[in-house]
Amino acid sequence: MDSQPEPVSYICGDCGAENTLKPGDVIQCRECGYRILYKKRTRRSMCFHFHKQKYVGVDRSNLKPI
Ligand SMILES: [Zn+2]
Repeated sequence: MDSQPEPVSYICGDCGAENTLKPGDVIQCRECGYRILYKKRTRRSMCFHFHKQKYVGVDRSNLKPI
């Protein structure tokens, strides 16, 4: 668990809007109110995939529900 509250970027599962949430915030899209958000891939996992395949931008199949 992180002791520092760090904002994390999430992608709405419905409209695709980016939402920046802090720990304790309600998990809900600010654009459409949808309640399933996906965590954006981190740089670390991007680097992990980089030598295997080209980075092709945000791909929902690589996002994990929280
Ligand atoms: Zn949305």
